[in-house]
Amino acid sequence: MNTPLASARAAAIIKSLQIRNPDEICIRDISMERGALVKERYLEGSEGRLVRKGRIGIITVNKSLPEEGRKRFAIAHELGHFELHSDSQLIFCTEEDMYQWNESKEQEIEANEFAASVLMPHDIFSRYFKDQSPNMNTISEIAREFRTTLTATALRYAQISPEACAVVVCEEGTIRWYKKSGSFDFHVKVGEKLSPYTHAFDYFDGVDMPERPERVPAYAWLAGEVDADAEIVEHSLALGGYGVVLSLLWVLEEIKLPYRRYDREEDEPEFDLTNPFTPDGKRWRW
Ligand SMILES: [Zn+2]
Repeated sequence: MNTPLASARAAAIIKSLQIRNPDEICIRDISMERGALVKERYLEGSEGRLVRKGRIGIITVNKSLPEEGRKRFAIAHELGHFELHSDSQLIFCTEEDMYQWNESKEQEIEANEFAASVLMPHDIFSRYFKDQSPNMNTISEIAREFRTTLTATALRYAQISPEACAVVVCEEGTIRWYKKSGSFDFHVKVGEKLSPYTHAFDYFDGVDMPERPERVPAYAWLAGEVDADAEIVEHSLALGGYGVVLSLLWVLEEIKLPYRRYDREEDEPEFDLTNPFTPDGKRWRW
């Protein structure tokens, strides 16, 4: 799998077209420029299709997709196949292909990486990181600005955020998959039922979720050995009509997640690591 190549190719295209602002990212025009005509048709069972003949391509996007953001992503995804997978003459891509990031279909992951990078170029997107904690409201604003779906925007946010954060996708009360920033040093409990201590659980339980980010026990989301007192911040939003909850998680600096291994016994601190206070009464920080 070569996702760095996919994002580099997208970045080169954005640079060659001298695109500097989100409103200049017209994916249909970019596709034309690259040699792929975009059409809208009703497609059965797929979101997008690419037909290639030599250096020319035709991208068809499913007219029945309910959001412009999804259409744009599907076009960008097919353009990714056009740019990266020249040995494929005919490709059909399903909804699952568009939203799978952690599965084994390498070409689909590369096409998704390309799509995210061309619709939300790193340098332009980074300008929208505000000087505040991660927040779903900020992500919603960015999605409006870039005309991208909330899911694609949240995943891109988690991918390049300087904060220790992760975006988790839950469906039918189960944690399906997640994407995390480079500094988020934990694993989320993928495949498990949501803990009642999460707010995402509330949605599937028919209860309103809080509108603002709130602290929850870290063990409710994180796999592995996590101290019972450690907390993590969660801000969850339901994707209306899809039965899906997107949860943004992040670690606050002052919150201690004490799971840490020591290679040598003598390196271990003498005090109790599960206690958030050092013996002299000051809060311990890593
Ligand atoms: Zn595809």
